[in-house]
Amino acid sequence: MSEKLAIIGSGPAGLTAAIYAARAFLDPLVFVGPEFGGQIAITTEVENYPGFPNGLQGPELTAAMREQAEKFGARMVEETVDKVDLSSRPFKLTSSSGAYEVDALIIATGASPRRLGVPGEDHFIGRGVSYCATCDGFFFRNKEIIVVGGGDSAFQEGLFLTKFGSRVRIVHRRDEFRAGAMLQQRAKSNPKIELVTNSVIERIDGNGKVADVVLKNLKTGQTSTSPVEGVFVFVGHIPNTQLFQGQLAMDHEGYLTVDQHLHTSVPGVFAAGEAHDNWFKQAITSAGFGCMAAMEAEKFLSQDA
Ligand code: NAP
Repeated sequence: MSEKLAIIGSGPAGLTAAIYAARAFLDPLVFVGPEFGGQIAITTEVENYPGFPNGLQGPELTAAMREQAEKFGARMVEETVDKVDLSSRPFKLTSSSGAYEVDALIIATGASPRRLGVPGEDHFIGRGVSYCATCDGFFFRNKEIIVVGGGDSAFQEGLFLTKFGSRVRIVHRRDEFRAGAMLQQRAKSNPKIELVTNSVIERIDGNGKVADVVLKNLKTGQTSTSPVEGVFVFVGHIPNTQLFQGQLAMDHEGYLTVDQHLHTSVPGVFAAGEAHDNWFKQAITSAGFGCMAAMEAEKFLSQDA
């Protein structure tokens, strides 16, 4: 099958790219991937996406984006691309249903928050376990919050969460933090923040929603059960770019290297969203990157004509 433009991924970046590409008559084919909608689709209430003053559910937002893209002719296939050959154009993609040749490609495969991998974590996602303070902090007004991690994200998001929580404990597995000095200083001087070092969460328990966690002190080996309603995990992200290893330039963490117009190291291959963005990580910024990538793809393909 021969295609002008393929988009891999169906989060805000991929779907926005699809809307713009379809409206530019590029007839895009979108590979939806393993989870339609990406990270935002596992978020319950989205209250910071412009245009929706009353908020909406993550899946509602992505369903609306999909409807909009399809209205303009974008085609969605419920498939995951599992092999690519970007060595020459047309690029070759293989999914479960067959092989495709594409003139241009937008990679919007996103990133997945690294999980702790402890019992209870997966079960309570959206019911007390969260990977996004901006999305979910509001639901924990006057509640006990635990933040896991020792990097900038944990400290910055922990500080943000003090707007809501009665107390925010930052639980970190070591007694030294990666977070920058200023963030550490701000956290240490915030009366709502408590730093719990040399400790990990062993288990998350509850009944319908998170009620407590079992904390383990790695120095003493002692465990204790601690009541808590919100567990926010910031232990890094994993970009979903393994598919492109060895074919596209990426940094040591796997984020795709792009120029300011979102061109990857291979002409005709563009990246949009958290596959390259290790910084902003918001639905609205990913949507913006999707728009930019589609506009660049359009420009690139018009040079072929
Ligand atoms: P990060 O710097 O990689 O920090 C991840 C933290 O999670 C580390 O403290 C790590 O512990 C801990 N961790 C990893 N796996 C764990 C596990 N399985 N269990 C428990 N803890 C675990 O990630 P990040 O904080 O998301 O930052 C990512 C990048 O964005 C960084 O370059 C950061 O500087 C940047 N950023 C900057 C700002 C800012 O400046 N305002 C804000 C956000 C992010 P160890 O320390 O023991 O390895």
